[in-house]
Amino acid sequence: MSDARAPVLVTCPDWVHETMTLGTRYDTDDDRMRLAIELSRQNVVRGTGGPFGAAIFERSSGALLSVGVNSVVRLNNSTLHGEMVAIMMAQHRIASYTLAASPPASYELVSSCDPCAMCLGAVLWSGVSRLVTGADRDDATALSFEEGPVFPQSYLYLEQRGVTITRGMLRQEAAAVLELYRRQGGQIYNA
Ligand SMILES: [Zn+2]
Repeated sequence: MSDARAPVLVTCPDWVHETMTLGTRYDTDDDRMRLAIELSRQNVVRGTGGPFGAAIFERSSGALLSVGVNSVVRLNNSTLHGEMVAIMMAQHRIASYTLAASPPASYELVSSCDPCAMCLGAVLWSGVSRLVTGADRDDATALSFEEGPVFPQSYLYLEQRGVTITRGMLRQEAAAVLELYRRQGGQIYNA
């Protein structure tokens, strides 16, 4: 057991910093989703975590604010889903607990898969104004990943609070990474 006063560190693997440049502009939804999917794929190929990646962009410029990859096993932390890491990194970068604090800048979270219950809740508190997802809940549960209590009303609730939601973007490409993880015998840590 570690010292109770030791800080909890949240990091991305080194390859993330070697392959991504924050501030780069991703013009289209497809470009932005392809980055999230590539993060998920590299996390599998390089053996640094589960098959999930996420990125946060400034909506109008497409500038990349942060990225996250699933880090649950690597950092022994059940909360470190790709979306959670991306949100933590983004808020750390702008030094604010909400991404809604610096209008006219407005941010969107692009995730390679539909969020679980925890991440969908975090989307609301994060201050992003849009959520974009690739693979869907069925793709994730087909691998026996537990998504928790997410219901159609959960999405409706976010929309009613001003979060625009686009799901199923490049779904097949995103789901292919889940299949890759399954073929490699990847660990299902939240079954
Ligand atoms: Zn999650």
